[in-house]
Amino acid sequence: MAGDGGDEDGDDEKEELRRRVAALDAELGRTRALLETIFARIPAVFYVKDVDSRYRYGSPWGFRTFGIDPAKAIGRTDAELFPPELAERFAASDRRVLEGREMASVSYALPAQGRALHFAGVRFPIPGPDGSPVGICGFAVDVTERIELANKLEHLATTDALTGLANRRRFDERFSAEVARAARSGEPLTLVLCDVDQFKRYNDRYGHPRGDACLVEVARALDGIVRRPADLAARYGGEEFALVLPDTAEEGAASLVERLRASVRALGVEHAGNDGHGVVTLSAGVATVVGAWTVEDVIELADRALYAAKEAGRDRHVAVSEAKPPPSSSRAR
Ligand code: GH3
Ligand code: MG
Ligand code: MG
Repeated sequence: MAGDGGDEDGDDEKEELRRRVAALDAELGRTRALLETIFARIPAVFYVKDVDSRYRYGSPWGFRTFGIDPAKAIGRTDAELFPPELAERFAASDRRVLEGREMASVSYALPAQGRALHFAGVRFPIPGPDGSPVGICGFAVDVTERIELANKLEHLATTDALTGLANRRRFDERFSAEVARAARSGEPLTLVLCDVDQFKRYNDRYGHPRGDACLVEVARALDGIVRRPADLAARYGGEEFALVLPDTAEEGAASLVERLRASVRALGVEHAGNDGHGVVTLSAGVATVVGAWTVEDVIELADRALYAAKEAGRDRHVAVSEAKPPPSSSRAR
């Protein structure tokens, strides 16, 4: 009796279990289909890799962005899918994640199909039953437009609209950084202030639009002279330009300024009102300092040298070089 009942109960239990497993299977299938629909549609990089860095899942958008057929990527590693340099970057990042250094809010640029794409997202280890990682999950969205817009705005905010040179804001930032750096390094720093000679007369005679065009040409000459990446050519204001020359002593700066003045003269821009010259010319004040100076004191030195060049007849440079503490601190003593 017990035996009969037992068999019947056992069949019922098995049937019940089969039903539950089938229900779970169906549920799993629906969840998987739902996830696949979601990840097939959202424009994001989403992937799951195992500990051997083989893709278990990857969003089609993510693979396609890098020119990879999503159907062929599963079971493969980065080394089999990406160019060596990129694969090594991914491998290094996988190692960091697996070492437990979770990479929340990663932001990175990648070369994809001939252009640089910027991504922002997260990477983290997938914990197994005993807590140690059994894989890696990554999720990132394309923020290229946002980054490019931010770069464009930054460029606009620091560029002079007329000449395309760095503007006063950029000059102020860079120059104060270089003054601080020179104070630490003990290397000479040179500031050149240039000013177009008799430019008011130029505007009066040829009109403001031609005045603008002339400033564009002078700026181009300036840009052509400045070659070292650390140097900065900027429009200081109106018809005045500034050159910031880090690690540059007086002789080097003087020869650069003379090349600049020659190249401006060589433009041959007619300027009948520029007494005795006939063409557009520049005057320049060159200040070379060594040691701890303030931004204001270096500018004042260069400005005084520029004034001296104007007083001495224009179309020339005057250079001053100071290795002692700035005048204001000498006065304070
Ligand atoms: P100096 O040789 O002593 O420098 O004489 P200057 O006439 O050049 O000096 P001043 O400072 O008296 O005049 C500068 C002129 O530069 C006045 C202004 O009309 C002109 N200027 C300043 N900014 C611009 C600009 O953006 N475009 C044009 N066309 N002219 C400008
Ligand atoms: Mg001026
Ligand atoms: Mg002038």
